[in-house]
Amino acid sequence: MSLHLYNTLTRNLEGFEPSDGKKVHMYSCGPTVYDHVHIGNLRTFAFQDVLRRHLRCCGYDLLHVMNITDVDDKIIANAQKANQSISEYTARYIDAFKKDTKMLRLETPEHITLATDHIDAMITLIQRLADKNLTYQSEGSTYFRIAHFENYGKLTRLDTSGMKTGGRVDQDEYEKDDIRDFALWKAPKDGEPYWESPFGPGRPGWHIECSAMSMQYLGATFDIHTGGVDLVFPHHENEIAQSEGATGQQFVRFWVHAEHLLVEGQKMSKSLGNFYTLYDLLDQNYSPEAIRYSLISVPYRKQLNFTFDGLKAATIAIERLRNFKRRLETETFPEGEASELLAAVARARDQFTVAMDDDLNTAQALGAIFDFVRDANTKIDSEDFFEGNRESAIDLLTLFDSIFDVLTMEADCRIPVEEIERFIEERSRARKNRDFARADEIRVELQRQGVVLEDSRDSTHWKYV
Ligand code: AMP
Ligand code: ZN
Repeated sequence: MSLHLYNTLTRNLEGFEPSDGKKVHMYSCGPTVYDHVHIGNLRTFAFQDVLRRHLRCCGYDLLHVMNITDVDDKIIANAQKANQSISEYTARYIDAFKKDTKMLRLETPEHITLATDHIDAMITLIQRLADKNLTYQSEGSTYFRIAHFENYGKLTRLDTSGMKTGGRVDQDEYEKDDIRDFALWKAPKDGEPYWESPFGPGRPGWHIECSAMSMQYLGATFDIHTGGVDLVFPHHENEIAQSEGATGQQFVRFWVHAEHLLVEGQKMSKSLGNFYTLYDLLDQNYSPEAIRYSLISVPYRKQLNFTFDGLKAATIAIERLRNFKRRLETETFPEGEASELLAAVARARDQFTVAMDDDLNTAQALGAIFDFVRDANTKIDSEDFFEGNRESAIDLLTLFDSIFDVLTMEADCRIPVEEIERFIEERSRARKNRDFARADEIRVELQRQGVVLEDSRDSTHWKYV
């Protein structure tokens, strides 16, 4: 079997290879940085990491772009409340997002793009749509006119034609001709930040960001677009309308969507208030690896029911694998080799790869590894594991860890000592200046990164928790 991925566009499991045969051109919708991400968001980002890693195992290179939405209604409102510019406001959440993903060992995409750095590309794209008579203006905003775009609804397969039109119905409270139409460019309300454009002052809508940035880096047609299932409609449907409306070419070959992480049967989300951030879990002494493991061990197209029991089980599973690795690296075995063990390694490798090729079936891939570990541990105990079996068994764990990445110890990805010391210096300066708010902020920030401070009379000590 070769790699197969479930394509939301066709509702089929399809054989995948990049269109140029070598490099996968891929785009992922990133976070909206008005707050810290929660572990539901991180599940989707972790799935993208697994996809990246497995594509590389398949021998492909990667050109992967992820956006950061750093302007939207919530960001503007929160920045105003905090009396900051939107870039001042979002900086800390962008930083926090990067730290969270690093902590979870998520690989960094080749490009991480900020929406506010690409306003010109969005304006150009809206202009192209306007030239094709796919837009109209209303109350200073510019909308996409869906009635003029024939293929609207092809991703969602939703019949939107019966939706009622008229009225102030969209969440942005603007007037539009058809309820399905969506804003490409939004007129600023009083006191809101804006950019100049040929269609008047304003800011981009959310959907246009992703169309403009993905096509700028990846071309008019690219291989894979990912996101969580909640983005299929309207976000991705609208991306298709904008991109294909402008270029007349197919936008994306494979749409790949991750199912939600649930808490007690409900989607984890900010608005429901049922969310945990990464640091809520680290504070309870779960390791980043255990969190990573529990996010990725359920295949991405299954809903993941988050539980603390699941995290505990992940902790134990990792410990087992690490113990096994330690045995392989440190114990002495009798000379020779057991051919059935060599065959068992080959079988496990094969099963692991087949499972990953089957739409990234991580649960089945893990099953293959654990079957082997059980078998090999028994053989080591009974002295039926030989020197000649060591290397191939270690190689199997290396293959496993090229995707799962949980076997090396946590200390490797901790915040570096120099950075901690810089923070401590800044904190003592803040305390001298009686800026206790800043001093406290630094203490909390370090705590979030797994470092606790202990103040004595004239110095501050720190330790990793
Ligand atoms: P947002 O910052 O809300 O745009 O979300 C960032 C990413 O997280 C998107 O791909 C969402 O689809 C995804 N997402 C949001 N909530 C969840 C959840 N509970 N489980 C999995 N993914 C989610
Ligand atoms: Zn997007």
